[in-house]
Amino acid sequence: MHKRAFVSMFVMSYGVGQGAARASTWMKGDLHVHSSHSTDAKDSPVAEIISKAEALGLDFLAITDHDNHVEGRIETWGDPDYRSSRMTLLYGTEWTTGLGHANIFGAKPFDYQPFWQLRDTDIPRTLELAHQLNLHFSVNHPEAKDKWEPGFTLPVDSTEVWTAVFSIPNNNRKAIQKWDSVLKTGRRLTARGGSDSHHQKDFESQLFNIGNPTTWVKAEDHEGESILKALSEGRVSLSYAPSAERLEFSATDLDSGEKIEIGDSMTVPFKRNLHFQIDIVGARASESYEVTIIRNGEPWRTVHTRSSPIEFDATIPGMELSYFRVELKGSTPDAPFLSGIAFGSFIALTNPIYFNY
Ligand SMILES: [Zn+2]
Ligand SMILES: [Zn+2]
Repeated sequence: MHKRAFVSMFVMSYGVGQGAARASTWMKGDLHVHSSHSTDAKDSPVAEIISKAEALGLDFLAITDHDNHVEGRIETWGDPDYRSSRMTLLYGTEWTTGLGHANIFGAKPFDYQPFWQLRDTDIPRTLELAHQLNLHFSVNHPEAKDKWEPGFTLPVDSTEVWTAVFSIPNNNRKAIQKWDSVLKTGRRLTARGGSDSHHQKDFESQLFNIGNPTTWVKAEDHEGESILKALSEGRVSLSYAPSAERLEFSATDLDSGEKIEIGDSMTVPFKRNLHFQIDIVGARASESYEVTIIRNGEPWRTVHTRSSPIEFDATIPGMELSYFRVELKGSTPDAPFLSGIAFGSFIALTNPIYFNY
């Protein structure tokens, strides 16, 4: 056989030829970090954050300094050290108001002045503006001291459900409950993580740091636009550290063979039998895991296992809204310090698989 013909046959049969869809990949990052451009993070220079994030193997990063610390004139993006040859950098800032905090993310730098002028006077207009400019508006720590007051009937694009260490204080569990209450209304809303790391030198940096937690997104490529698209679509899971286990979750219709994954919704007009699969990617050989499946906001099944994948079947009623998501518990040896206490054995969680949403 002619060599070229052989090569083209190989390419055809394996579907890696020109024009083949580029496979989506899971990428990890931190979407909530403060640098010395925030007055409460003066000991955290941008260069140090970038090199730490690169060393942790992160694929993307957003440094989100407080807008009110610089009177709305965002300095971070113009910092000569805000660059990386290894990570995709997003352009974000923390919209810091008396009504709550949120991160506004762009794939490119944008004019922040209109947002600063609006502040918290007209939040619907702020969201409209963000969407006109192709920006992603994401609520921060909705149940913390700086609570999210405007509620979730507004078209926010995602919400942070896991800030810093999981268990101290116990705001993250409350943020997850709030998120479930939103999902139960029939609204798809992405949950993401954010370390909210402010310091690289003091005690805080030893308790948690960049990547605690890590947000994983399944994006089409490494471009900032693709990362934000995956975030908006809910192709997202969270892990307590960049080196920790990551959850994958899928459902297959046993009759049609249709398969969906995290962030997808399947239309089920009539009662259907579905096969679900949970993969613990990077599972440790000797670890005993507790896997909880949450169905429509309530714990539905808990499995104790030393092996992955975990598989189960479920019947989905026709025309009803329903969602399934997964939480993973076990030991957290890759947390910086006090891992058992601070992280409460919470390893990972997924965004939902939806039906009829
Ligand atoms: Zn905040
Ligand atoms: Zn913050």
